[in-house]
Amino acid sequence: MIPALGSLHTGRLVLTTVDPLQAVAQPTIVGLLTELGLVGPRRDAVASFDAGPALGALVGFTGCAVQFDGAGAPEATHGPWLHVPPATMEPRLRWGRNTRPPRCPTCSAALHAWREHLPAPEPGADDPRGLCCDADLPLRCDTCGSAQPTHRWRWGRHAGAGRSFVLIEEVFPGEARPLSALLQALEQLGAGTWDYFYVQD
Ligand SMILES: [Zn+2]
Repeated sequence: MIPALGSLHTGRLVLTTVDPLQAVAQPTIVGLLTELGLVGPRRDAVASFDAGPALGALVGFTGCAVQFDGAGAPEATHGPWLHVPPATMEPRLRWGRNTRPPRCPTCSAALHAWREHLPAPEPGADDPRGLCCDADLPLRCDTCGSAQPTHRWRWGRHAGAGRSFVLIEEVFPGEARPLSALLQALEQLGAGTWDYFYVQD
């Protein structure tokens, strides 16, 4: 459900593996991000964290939509924070109001009616943030008729699929991106290269 105007979600930067079938155990990701200084104190029992002191060295901010006090001082109660949900058994697609029509993996045509074709969103109890659904379910192309798993469609940087995610709140789409030091460190976890996209609830 789209929130009322005035309380619109700014957006989140989402990192995941390029291969949506790969996964890294959540504690392994959290351990790495803690070591790097990207995450600080845990905010709740689920898996939310204050941003750590190295946020500015690992994520490049180009806009002014994100403000943080003292480079992510632990005592800050606002500013960027991170969520690292547990890895799922199957890939999940995450999308939002900023998502644009995906392109067919077979013929490259854009599917404008993707919202009607997409399976109903089903956020998990342990991961209530944003819209997501099973990315193994097929999405049928209006143009060539082929039905390919949702995760094989090309979503650009406006949605994405994976089993392991790092969510960085609140980031307006395009106003922050992971720097190479962060992407290289994530690649060392053995699930291949990582990429990123943006979602606005
Ligand atoms: Zn097609």
